[in-house]
Amino acid sequence: TQEKPHQNLAIIGHVDHGKSTLVGRLMFETGSVPEHVIEQHREEAEEKGKGGFEFAYVMDNLAEERERGLTIDIAHQEFETDEYDFTIVDTPGHRDFVKNMITGASQADHAVLVVAADDGVAPQTQEHVFLARTLGIDELVVAVNKMDVVEYEETRFREVVAEVKDLLDQVRFATEDASFIPISAFEGDNVAELSDQMPWYDGRALLETLNDLPVPEPPTDAPLRLPIQDVYTISGIGTVPVGRIETGQMRAGDEVSFQPSDVGGEVKTIEMHHEEIDLAEPGDNVGFNVRGVGKDDIRRGDVCGPADDPPTVAETFQAQIVVMQHPSVITAGYTPVFHAHTAQVACTVESLDQKIDPSSGEVQEEDPDFIQAGDAAVVTVRPQKPLSIEPSEEIPELGSFAIRDMGQTVAAGRVLNVSEK
Ligand code: GDP
Repeated sequence: TQEKPHQNLAIIGHVDHGKSTLVGRLMFETGSVPEHVIEQHREEAEEKGKGGFEFAYVMDNLAEERERGLTIDIAHQEFETDEYDFTIVDTPGHRDFVKNMITGASQADHAVLVVAADDGVAPQTQEHVFLARTLGIDELVVAVNKMDVVEYEETRFREVVAEVKDLLDQVRFATEDASFIPISAFEGDNVAELSDQMPWYDGRALLETLNDLPVPEPPTDAPLRLPIQDVYTISGIGTVPVGRIETGQMRAGDEVSFQPSDVGGEVKTIEMHHEEIDLAEPGDNVGFNVRGVGKDDIRRGDVCGPADDPPTVAETFQAQIVVMQHPSVITAGYTPVFHAHTAQVACTVESLDQKIDPSSGEVQEEDPDFIQAGDAAVVTVRPQKPLSIEPSEEIPELGSFAIRDMGQTVAAGRVLNVSEK
């Protein structure tokens, strides 16, 4: 069988609005739970005289995964439609969502926003929508869940849709073509098939909508950017940096440059899955070998790019950030650790330039004295060690970061412009 294009899907929304139930339902409806596992459970349930057990099984399993999520960063759940292989990426609220999303470990192509029909828009609905926007998602599929709880009423659905539209307009999401789908993840209404319970709904079921999402375009035409994850020494070959190509292509024979280490040379060989290849593209995890570059010349956090268009190294950069959680206030001089691609570098927030209203995007205050949780701001940042980072307008894949402090992600941001060294 032909391999299907891949989509990374984030499921976002307020706690208890039904995100995990929806993931379970999607996996169940697409037959992504192995038959023998369901069979085993069916027998057990029949012995105990319980009905509706197959779906319950998926839910138990997900709960277990979530427990394990304490030790495993990302719990990947997968399902397929006619067009795509979907991977559910870590959801916000899971410990390292923002960091994973920014460092590329779980960069989402699209997101489903889950809003419970009874509650409507809640605080985390707002926060996740703003975060999704900052992290570069341009379009959402909106699932109005728990329609069974509101007796499948069209008027309630319309009210919730109006609330969500207001919110999306505020952060400038495109709502013209957005899909709003009334569902019950629990009962399965309008997930795989249109439900008899909501004859007033004239749109498509959720799975069909996901199946019709546009194909993610790999950033092949951008200049090569390959953040280095590790550097190995392999006998017979020599120094082998490894990493995932974020943008552009790499060919054997290319002249490349590693920044900020500022060394380079000609690519001799490229390997993927233990096989030598001539051309590597976005998404490929590769190991390669560069003439004249030794193990101590480069390190994790370097970015490899073309010698004639090398990765940008920042003296300072200006960024838009969203403060998600911080016990007190952030003032000029604050020096937490910035996580960008594979780099982790202490950076000083040199100045707070503007405070932005997160719900309108308007400037609220010039040169504020401090910012705190819930605020958005434009800030100027000075890395304490050389850092390669790109304006997000030019290379979005290398233009966002998470700010970590005291063991948690305190803010997320994207780079507006860079002053080079
Ligand atoms: P999460 O925190 O967003 O992942 O929410 P969960 O999936 O854990 O769901 C929270 C609660 O809502 C659970 O008790 C679910 O059984 C329930 N729930 C989820 N979806 C539905 C639904 O469509 N209808 C009803 N009645 N309950 C639901």
